[in-house]
Amino acid sequence: MNFLEEKIMADGVVKAGDILKVDNFLNHQIDINVIRQIAHELKRRFEGERIDKVVTIEASGITIATLLGDLCGVPVVFAKKGETANSTDDKYVSEAYSFTHKRMNQVFISRPYLHAGERILIVDDFLADGQAVHALIDIVHQAAAEVVGIGIAIEKGQQQGGRILRSEGYHLESIAIVESMDPETQAIRFRQQ
Ligand code: 5GP
Repeated sequence: MNFLEEKIMADGVVKAGDILKVDNFLNHQIDINVIRQIAHELKRRFEGERIDKVVTIEASGITIATLLGDLCGVPVVFAKKGETANSTDDKYVSEAYSFTHKRMNQVFISRPYLHAGERILIVDDFLADGQAVHALIDIVHQAAAEVVGIGIAIEKGQQQGGRILRSEGYHLESIAIVESMDPETQAIRFRQQ
């Protein structure tokens, strides 16, 4: 087991509805040591790639993206969720269905923060059905920038996001891939990588 799998085994709580709660190190309280290890591991997995910018989505992707951007020496941009209010002229806008909140979110990045030709590494805390990552890919493409890869802390392999993104040809790296989890017994199985 790698460091993140061990942390999930120690502190993760499996909830009904295929939800893994990791509030005590990632989604509420932040364990900086764990986030730092996640950032180092993602940097290692994308070694050799030229990256111009790290892009994530609020809120929980921001800590990982910030430390990774710092390690890579590149800017970090996070997409915002919610109503874009009046004008969308100054923004790249997409939509993502939220698996955890069961609602459609508008997702946007203001135009000055993405540029044509930039090589973007997309980062997030969780990958489930791939809605959030696909919205970010859509936004990157609207800006005529390029997706170099996708770095995820925890992929839930029992959901379809990872399979779809890999079949679309994206370089997807997930540090921990959950194969199955049981809210009754709290058993969690990881995919061998
Ligand atoms: P997707 O868009 O891939 O369906 O879901 C990924 C997004 O939903 C992530 O940004 C994450 O915030 C949230 N998410 C999905 N599943 C889980 C989960 O089991 N636990 C937590 N904490 N967040 C999740």
